[in-house]
Amino acid sequence: MKEELYKILEEAKKEIANIRDNIELEKMKVKFLGKKGPIKDVLSKLGSISEELRKEVGRVANEVKEELTKMIDEAEAHLKKLQKENELKKGVSDISLPLKKPLTGYPHPVSLVVEKMVNIFKSMGYSVADGPELEEEYYNFDMLNIPPHHPARDDHDSFYVMPGMLLRTHTSPVQIRTMKCFKPPIAIVVPGRCYRRDATDATHSHTFHQMEGLVVDKGISFADLKGTLLLWAKMMFGEETQIRLRPDFFPFTEPSAELAVTCPVCKGKKCNVCKHTGWVELMGCGMVDPIVLENCGIDSEVYSGFAFGLGIERVAMTVYGISDIRQFFENDLRLLEQFGK
Ligand SMILES: [Zn+2]
Repeated sequence: MKEELYKILEEAKKEIANIRDNIELEKMKVKFLGKKGPIKDVLSKLGSISEELRKEVGRVANEVKEELTKMIDEAEAHLKKLQKENELKKGVSDISLPLKKPLTGYPHPVSLVVEKMVNIFKSMGYSVADGPELEEEYYNFDMLNIPPHHPARDDHDSFYVMPGMLLRTHTSPVQIRTMKCFKPPIAIVVPGRCYRRDATDATHSHTFHQMEGLVVDKGISFADLKGTLLLWAKMMFGEETQIRLRPDFFPFTEPSAELAVTCPVCKGKKCNVCKHTGWVELMGCGMVDPIVLENCGIDSEVYSGFAFGLGIERVAMTVYGISDIRQFFENDLRLLEQFGK
């Protein structure tokens, strides 16, 4: 009987070598291990032999069964692997594989600051104005009370593309274009790209972004400017933020001031970002010079206005702790990823 069992195993080994698919394998499984299989057949005869021999045959029968089960499992795994390889060759996707995360974009820190500022000023009733980046000298300088040979032009080292035409050095020409087209009351913000022929370093870039604001109406005073910018600072950096105004000079505003806010990073407690002063200078502002209003055909006896402008990168560097302005223009996705989550 033992020989009979070993013979069954040999026969199964021969058969399994020729198996080509799962259906054949299943048939073989039933044939050898099923209720009507040869092993069961041998075991059914155990009653007719001695007890000692019965034990021995039982042991061998179990061995053969285990061996057969193992062979069938291995054959099954092998068939599965072959099937997968065939599917890959045919280009069939394996839907059990984990999904590759699609590459998505992230908002740029400059865009984030512009968006936040635009939303703040929109909530105060301002409109967003736009203008050309390739600008006439007339709008970029002359109309803003910066005639040729004015020393302020030295601060605006410019990219001229032809006589009289340059890449705008600030967003202020859009103020002029707006005042020439629309009658007061005017309340606009102008986010946009500007260019200056600056040598590039950690804090300077030939390309940068500004946001300009302009309000013109009857009875606008410096108090309106101060109140507006204080509200902006609180909405932008937090309720506890304070502002500081110091006299400054710009050709297109009179009087002019430089605005600083309590450091958004250390909240005025002094840190590296605010160079241990507790304040960060962010903005130039002032009352629109009557000459500029008159240039645009607005009666400066009836109307007055205020204007302000700031560098977007400077705000983004302060808020996000970015120490080198060049990082904004390097298109390194790792920088952007930090702000997209
Ligand atoms: Zn600080």
